[in-house]
Amino acid sequence: MVRDIVQIGNPILRKKCEKVTEFGKELSSLLDDMKETVIAYDGAGLAAPQIGVNLRVVVINVDEGYFELVNPVFVWQKGEQIGAEGCLSVRGKQGTVVRPSKVKILFQDRNGDKFSLVARDFLARAICHELDHLDGIIYTDKATNVRNSED
Ligand SMILES: [Zn+2]
Repeated sequence: MVRDIVQIGNPILRKKCEKVTEFGKELSSLLDDMKETVIAYDGAGLAAPQIGVNLRVVVINVDEGYFELVNPVFVWQKGEQIGAEGCLSVRGKQGTVVRPSKVKILFQDRNGDKFSLVARDFLARAICHELDHLDGIIYTDKATNVRNSED
C-alpha cells in the first residue's frame, strides 16, 4: 500500500528511531509498503519515520539496485563528494550537501540475516541521507544553498 509521506515540521522526523527486534509479518508488510511508496513517489530512498514509523528501516531505490536495510550502521566513511539532494519530506526543494564518497555499512534483511555493503558515489549519498533520517536528521540541516527544485 502506498503510504502518505510525513512532511518536515512533523516531530516524528526528529526522533531517534528504535532498533528492529522482531523479524516477522509486520516488518515484511512495512517493507512492502515502503517499496510501493518510494516507487510511487519516484524517490531514491525512504526511511520508516517518513511514513510515521519510528523504526531503523530504510529502502534505497537507485540505478545500482533496490536495497532493504534493517538496523543499518556505518562501519566506515571515506572521502568526500559534493552534490544536490532532495527529500520526499521536503517537497519542492533541493540543496547542496557534502557526503562521504564511499561508505561501508552493516545491515539486516527482513529475515534478520546480516550483510555488509560497500557503496560509493550516488548510492553512498542515498545511504547517508536515509541513515540520517533514523537519527532525526534532515538533509536541510547539513545543506548549503537550499533552493526551489525545478520539478
Ligand atoms: Zn529524505
